[in-house]
Amino acid sequence: MTELLQQGSKVYCLYMIIMLLLCSTNTNAADKPESICYGTTDKGRIENAWQLSSSGANFSAYSTVGDTIGRNYVHNKVYDTVLDAYKSLQQKILEKVFVYGETGWKSGGRFLPHKSHQNGLSVDFFVPVVDTKGKSVPLPASPLNKFGYNIEFTSKGKYKEYSIDFEAIAAHLFSLKEAADKHNIKIWRVIFDNDLQKLLFKTSKGKELQALLTFSTKKSWVRHDEHYHVDFIVPCREFR
Ligand SMILES: [Zn+2]
Repeated sequence: MTELLQQGSKVYCLYMIIMLLLCSTNTNAADKPESICYGTTDKGRIENAWQLSSSGANFSAYSTVGDTIGRNYVHNKVYDTVLDAYKSLQQKILEKVFVYGETGWKSGGRFLPHKSHQNGLSVDFFVPVVDTKGKSVPLPASPLNKFGYNIEFTSKGKYKEYSIDFEAIAAHLFSLKEAADKHNIKIWRVIFDNDLQKLLFKTSKGKELQALLTFSTKKSWVRHDEHYHVDFIVPCREFR
């Protein structure tokens, strides 16, 4: 009898161990797998890219169309960095709103009309703006202005009734750097119009920002006045 009881408890223990293993396997399967990037931002691809949220408390995507057809996928580490930066901005500058632009396809690769954005490590951010009353408002992106990309700012940062909020850009870039450090990734470079960069560096912490990040120095192939392009560095596998 005792032997039978012992055998019974052994079988029960074995059953519990199997159930625990099954449960832990199920939990892992429910988690999103980490991304694997290949090659470079100019020639690359990505597996298991994560799609950025279309909106949050203080941010939104540039277009619901772009969002729906999947033009806002990134590497999971970039995903965490971008969203954490918005979260920290919410605590620091509550009243400011931000709009992000295009990032890349779910599997990466050629992403017209962009030259890069191929391996989940590039993100376009539209410039935060204020209206004539100084209120922070989203840049009016629509199909009429190529989802914001056709908007042209003057060298003083003006477009119609909108003015670029350089202090908000600086705060955003500081938050991005802080979040990138937290997730052990780096910011390779920020591409932004050369004239507008000068105004960014004149903000309260502009000089500090200039020393902290690498900004484009040459004129890029398209004018980056309505958005700033950020490339991140994550170790990637060889492109194949
Ligand atoms: Zn870009």
